[in-house]
Amino acid sequence: LENILEINDLHVSFDTFSGEVQAVRGVDLELKKGEALAIVGESGSGKSVTSKTIMQLNPSPPGRIKSGEILFDGQDLAKLSDKQMQDIRGKEISMIFQDPMTSLNPTMTVGKQIMEGLIKHQNMSKPEAKQRAIELLNLVGIPNPDTRVKQYPHQFSGGMRQRVVIAIALACNPKVLIADEPTTALDVTIQAQILDLMKNLQAEGDTSIILITHDLGVVANMAQRVAVMYGGKVVEVGTVDELFYDPKHPYSWGLLSSMPRLHEKQDDLNAIAGTPPDLSNPPKGCPFAARCPHAMKVCTEHMPEHTNVSETQSAACWLLDERAPKVEPPEAVKA
Ligand code: SF4
Ligand code: MG
Repeated sequence: LENILEINDLHVSFDTFSGEVQAVRGVDLELKKGEALAIVGESGSGKSVTSKTIMQLNPSPPGRIKSGEILFDGQDLAKLSDKQMQDIRGKEISMIFQDPMTSLNPTMTVGKQIMEGLIKHQNMSKPEAKQRAIELLNLVGIPNPDTRVKQYPHQFSGGMRQRVVIAIALACNPKVLIADEPTTALDVTIQAQILDLMKNLQAEGDTSIILITHDLGVVANMAQRVAVMYGGKVVEVGTVDELFYDPKHPYSWGLLSSMPRLHEKQDDLNAIAGTPPDLSNPPKGCPFAARCPHAMKVCTEHMPEHTNVSETQSAACWLLDERAPKVEPPEAVKA
């Protein structure tokens, strides 16, 4: 499969009063045409910063791309000006955030907000755009779209607002949809409906999805591939089956062992003892070493490179070096 997006050795830092925070430290990722790729990891792992960097949505300053490239359709998004990026945002690449209110304008009807992109990017006339807005509201499952199109965000429930945000994101048929915890703020029933909606859209169109989440149930339900991030790095990547049934990185083992049973609510992937590394002074070796039950001397001294374990799976861990002792994953992870 062809890549629609390719991130190469991306480094992103934030300059703060207490110094440089290296939020993203050499991330390589590819998104294939038509796939849904999940990015999982604790808060502070770099998953949101990475996805916002694709859209150039990190506040800058203090955020800045130090190095690396983000190839989309042959062009490097990391080098585009704000003006050039405006033509990509919402047209070629759209983003949905956790809280729909942050992306909706409370003083504008939802119809107008959907129409904006259609008029700007698709050269539609006003009546055409309005007709399309009604179709889109219908597509995302909002009843009475003819009436709803004239209403304001506060007249919608939380779940309905997120549907509106999705309608706006889809208005221009984006090639890539980035969804950052899109259902976290919603109750379980609405959550399932929104995920079904995204799944159908992915299956029907040729939209590729990057889904950022800490909910492994959502990953299993939605994605074909998973990237696990930790300490500003991708520590393991593979198909959903590989990650769930044969994970190789001790951090992935921790995640899967701490996976809540079905219908159990959990706020974040924090069940692993210890705290993530301080990225204003990152460790020179493996970022997980301080919390890893299998850490060896080499781990704290040298950064592990990715080792391929199949055509689709790789992990950055010294245990995959042929000289390392054989370590079995914990019982809870074994199928
Ligand atoms: Fe643990 Fe070492 Fe592997 Fe890091 S490289 S996850 S510290 S075994
Ligand atoms: Mg986040």
